[in-house]
Amino acid sequence: MIYLDNNATTPLDPLVLEEMMPFLGPQFANPGSGSTFGRAAKKAVEKARTQVATLIGCEAEEIIFTSGGTEADNAAIFSATELSPERKHIVTSAVEHDAVLAYLKWLEETRGYEITKLGVNPQGRLDLAELEAAIDPDKTALVTLMWANNETGVIFPIAEASNIAAEEEVFFHTDAVQAAGKISLSVSDTSIHSLALSGHKIHGPKGIGAMFASKNVGFRPWFHGGGQENQRRSGTENVAGIVGLGKAAELALSAHENVRKLRDHFERELASKIDGVQFQGSEMERLPNTSNVRIPGANSEGLMILLDMKVICVSAGSACHTGALHPSPVLAAMGLDAEAARECLRISFSRLNSTEEVETLISAMIAATERMRSI
Ligand code: PLP
Repeated sequence: MIYLDNNATTPLDPLVLEEMMPFLGPQFANPGSGSTFGRAAKKAVEKARTQVATLIGCEAEEIIFTSGGTEADNAAIFSATELSPERKHIVTSAVEHDAVLAYLKWLEETRGYEITKLGVNPQGRLDLAELEAAIDPDKTALVTLMWANNETGVIFPIAEASNIAAEEEVFFHTDAVQAAGKISLSVSDTSIHSLALSGHKIHGPKGIGAMFASKNVGFRPWFHGGGQENQRRSGTENVAGIVGLGKAAELALSAHENVRKLRDHFERELASKIDGVQFQGSEMERLPNTSNVRIPGANSEGLMILLDMKVICVSAGSACHTGALHPSPVLAAMGLDAEAARECLRISFSRLNSTEEVETLISAMIAATERMRSI
């Protein structure tokens, strides 16, 4: 199989698995137990905390392990709204992941919040002047914006956006599930108060993630129980998952420039061989691994089936929307109509892909396009 759907999930790096194995077997101790056995597990958890903190440029004590990106986003939004219960307005964008949008919809429908969704231009660009205008310091509890988009890879100017929120003394959260480990991030150079990241997007295990919670602002926990994670997220730690996330974060720190080369080569070749091909958001700063390709006259479902027959795995839009009949809200926000959105494929590379795999993809896409266009 040629796996090119790495924004949906990534294969586990064998080095990550190796690091996790003892904690799935003989080192099964509860890190909360005071025994020597328990202390070894605790030490492994703390090492991982430092590895994750290093990846995003914060202090280890500001990392809280969660069950994944979704929980980290939910916990951050919960905390921000609890910190300012009198403010009932939240600013976000129209292209966020459902891990954020679904919670905001729930707050709107059941808790009377007003949600402002900032639009983007056809390249996926966010207008910072619109953000500034949308914030009402008396009413806004939170600004939540993703660092990089899962469907197009477009990167938002998060440091600048967080400074705008800070000037109004409004809490700022960023969903960095796609950005962490793919571009270099340093939260300490920004006014970000919380951030979400996830293990399975960076060759770590599924069901583990982390949240950065700035020590400069308060935190209101969502999980109550035994008081783990310094009273911020109760529940016995997923030690093997945490150790895996730590190792994945460490491995992601090295530069993986070959990913950008693979993506750029793919786009150049396709542009020269297929008439009318377009790459969504390509004029913007993008994640180096993501290409959202539109081939007019070839619908993505058909292309996916033809690629699948060659055992090439790609995605028609966001993983969460695959199989749904409605077109991608991200592409709609960028101004694509339903028909154009149905011609978009998301190809997401990883450092584990090879040049040969990309050459096979290019030939398969050219052949599949000819076939689709001839029907
Ligand atoms: N946010 C973004 C941008 C994502 O792409 C995803 C996963 O697709 C999530 C949040 C959810 O992360 P997890 O799958 O770890 O819950």
